[in-house]
Amino acid sequence: MSNAAHQSPAVAAQTGLTDKIARWASRLGGKSEEPVEEPASARTPPGRVFSREVDRRRQLYQDIGSFLFAHDLDLTPLNFGVAHDYLTGNDHGIEKAVAAVLAERGKITNGWVESIVADGPNKDVTPDALHDMLEKVEENLVQFTGLVDESRASAKDYGNALQEQVKDLSDEAKAEPVLARLIGLTRTMVEKTREVESQMRESAKQTRLLQNSLETARRAAEQDHLTGLPNRRAFEATLTAETLTAQKDNEPLSVAFCDIDHFKVVNDTHGHETGDRVLKFVSSLLAKVSNDKCHVARHGGEEFVMLFRGKTAGEACEAVDAARADLATRNLVNRATGERMDRVTFSAGVANVLAYENPRDALKAADRALYLAKEHGRNRVYLAAEVE
Ligand code: GH3
Ligand code: MG
Ligand code: MG
Repeated sequence: MSNAAHQSPAVAAQTGLTDKIARWASRLGGKSEEPVEEPASARTPPGRVFSREVDRRRQLYQDIGSFLFAHDLDLTPLNFGVAHDYLTGNDHGIEKAVAAVLAERGKITNGWVESIVADGPNKDVTPDALHDMLEKVEENLVQFTGLVDESRASAKDYGNALQEQVKDLSDEAKAEPVLARLIGLTRTMVEKTREVESQMRESAKQTRLLQNSLETARRAAEQDHLTGLPNRRAFEATLTAETLTAQKDNEPLSVAFCDIDHFKVVNDTHGHETGDRVLKFVSSLLAKVSNDKCHVARHGGEEFVMLFRGKTAGEACEAVDAARADLATRNLVNRATGERMDRVTFSAGVANVLAYENPRDALKAADRALYLAKEHGRNRVYLAAEVE
């Protein structure tokens, strides 16, 4: 091991220069063997304590960046994902596939990344699978946004550090032509790093736009287009969540199944468009009952469901019956012809959710009560018998 104290000034100066080049080279490779002073922008702000988790993530972002750099991979979410899965061992399949290619060819290409991702397991796309995928994509996007932000900061710091190196070496370069070439190379690296940074900024912007689109898609997926009410899928999720809360808080919870009477006749007599307007009218009337303790949704066709938190089945029956009575007094007019329409009514069945083993059974009981209400003349609300 060399010891500068025993060297002549000329040798010491030479060693200083060699050290400088060695440091420059190691930083260029992204691997610093000795502590390097961080650029001001990367320093821990006073009072801010970085946890180990943050250090670990910072290291991971650097590793992912180095991996992408080393293999000359484009900055795409796909490449990020594969680099991430390989480096963290998150996905065994990807980890094994990458290791195999590295062992065989020593390098990974953009095309290869696309092919292994495309070769992944092919799942059937059912609505539920689609919903799960949506959730997964959103989760990944949140992570990716953080990753890009951090990597962008790292790229910027890296670029700044290289810039400093150029300044440091400039004076020595006058005497050493070889250094002038190194400086040229370093400047190219600085430019490339700036490009990476701006690409990452663009990626972050695109990711945020995608997140907004996903949020809109999610809302649309849970809403009925015609009436604007939550749809069946959204209702089922609410029913499950509200059942758990009601059980925990020992609060009553009731569900109502409503169905417009002889709706087919409305369509047949006045046309589908007028039928649609009637559906909208009935939904607006039911929506008036809805509040933070009453959730109303379109279950499908001319059927609506209502969930009453804090109301016994008897109390819910009264609330639904009030809406029924309100509708039954309305004089509706066919807007297209100006013709007066026959009275529009609905029938309903109501059940106490907690009296059943699960919320689906309660909904079925409400549906059976509705059937009886239809059988017994329509335009009425029936309470489901609890012991069946
Ligand atoms: P009941 O009193 O026994 O419920 O008789 P109904 O005619 O209401 O019931 P049925 O199930 O025979 O008919 C329901 C009709 O609702 C048939 C279907 O075409 C119509 N429908 C379902 N969805 C829509 C929609 O979005 N718009 C319109 N206009 N009609 C719809
Ligand atoms: Mg029906
Ligand atoms: Mg009907």
